[in-house]
Amino acid sequence: MTIRTRFAPSPTGLLHIGGARTALFNYLFARHHGGEFLLRIEDTDRARSTQEAVQVILDGLDWLGLHADAPPVYQTKNEARHVEVAIQLLAEGKAYRCYCTPEELTAMREQAMAEKRPPRYDGRWRDRDPAEAPAGVKPAIRLKAPREGEVVLNDLVQGEVRVKNAEMDDMIILRSDGTPTYLHAVVCDDHDMGITHVIRGDDHLTNTFRQIQIYDAMGWEKPQFAHIPLIHGADGAKLSKRHGAVSILEFREQGFLPEALCNYLLRLGWGHGDAEFLARDEQIALFTLDGVGRAASRMDYAKLTHLNGMWLRQADDERLRGEVVERLVKSGHTVGTEAMARILALMPGLKERAKTLEELTASAAFLAREVPLPFEPKAEALLTLEAREMLGRLHGVLTGVAFEGTAIDAALRGFAEAEGRKLGQVAQPLRAALTGSTMSPGIDATLVALGKDESLKRIAAVTA
Ligand code: GLU
Repeated sequence: MTIRTRFAPSPTGLLHIGGARTALFNYLFARHHGGEFLLRIEDTDRARSTQEAVQVILDGLDWLGLHADAPPVYQTKNEARHVEVAIQLLAEGKAYRCYCTPEELTAMREQAMAEKRPPRYDGRWRDRDPAEAPAGVKPAIRLKAPREGEVVLNDLVQGEVRVKNAEMDDMIILRSDGTPTYLHAVVCDDHDMGITHVIRGDDHLTNTFRQIQIYDAMGWEKPQFAHIPLIHGADGAKLSKRHGAVSILEFREQGFLPEALCNYLLRLGWGHGDAEFLARDEQIALFTLDGVGRAASRMDYAKLTHLNGMWLRQADDERLRGEVVERLVKSGHTVGTEAMARILALMPGLKERAKTLEELTASAAFLAREVPLPFEPKAEALLTLEAREMLGRLHGVLTGVAFEGTAIDAALRGFAEAEGRKLGQVAQPLRAALTGSTMSPGIDATLVALGKDESLKRIAAVTA
């Protein structure tokens, strides 16, 4: 049997970090078993579904590297099939037409609430002769669900969960306007797509019991279910905007790498010993649902940022340059070929110090600037009259030096000694002059990356 999973987002908003984790788990589970990972866009709520939201989902999954094995299935395209299944259930006596008017249903609900009962449909058309149907009322189709016994779910994460059939009413599978309900559509699609494992958020657990009733009515084999806990904020409340970023797009904009985000999301609520830093192939090799805990996980932005820093240090320099340049251009910098070369040259040092692409970009911006540089207050403070005079003398020395690591280092040390200063007392004002800030990779590397002409130009600009 081929293991087949799916990610089934509703395109009514953004791709939430919780959704991304659900997608990741489905992806890893399928890959671990050599199976298939599919994508289904659940666009049946036409009023709320938008093409932009679909695009956000597709782009987000693409960015995270969670590629489906087939083009996405759009749920609305299967509507005729959903209707067909409902009609079949009707023909087999496993569903019935319900002619209740909206007013009747409202009255039923109000009465139940007044009597402190859960608002359930009372099954009044279950066994009634359709000949008694009122004129002009379009019927909905309801499942004739069993009233005795219980639904037993052996959930791969939650364990055994039972619900009595008596606690569930006869759900609508086809509305009176002829459109299928969401619960019904999901079952038909999962069956037709040959889904073997439904891995989704535990907010869907109650839906599952109803969906199982449909599987049973059709005599379809049920998939295995795994309901994974949702992601909460540090305070234990469901993760929302007030905790920080929630949409995948936001994390991307804030400068997180997709592999870091996936790594973090996997480690959130899934354990495998102490392993923290896991690349995709290790994730695939190790992932099983056994490691998924039942408790809600708490989003820890600081931990994610730390992990991102680790991934950043491992990332390819040219790729990082691409990201940095894109961000610089977006924020109004012009990045010419010289700046491109400088950024790449200094990347090994820059990426050691940054935790996000935003930080990396900020630390690289000086390489794309022209004199006169803007100075941070702390850098400005270092450039005293005395320091500027010293930099003037240093300019003279550096003019005669070949710009590569060891020669520069020797020249700076020699200069410091001649001046009776510590190396740092030379390097700090020099760094301020070269970068406009007090932080940069090693001074030798910074000088080499800027190149001789540009370095001298920047020094001259403060000594003048
Ligand atoms: N479309 C549902 C959602 O976005 C998921 C349904 C499912 O996974 O069965 O929450």
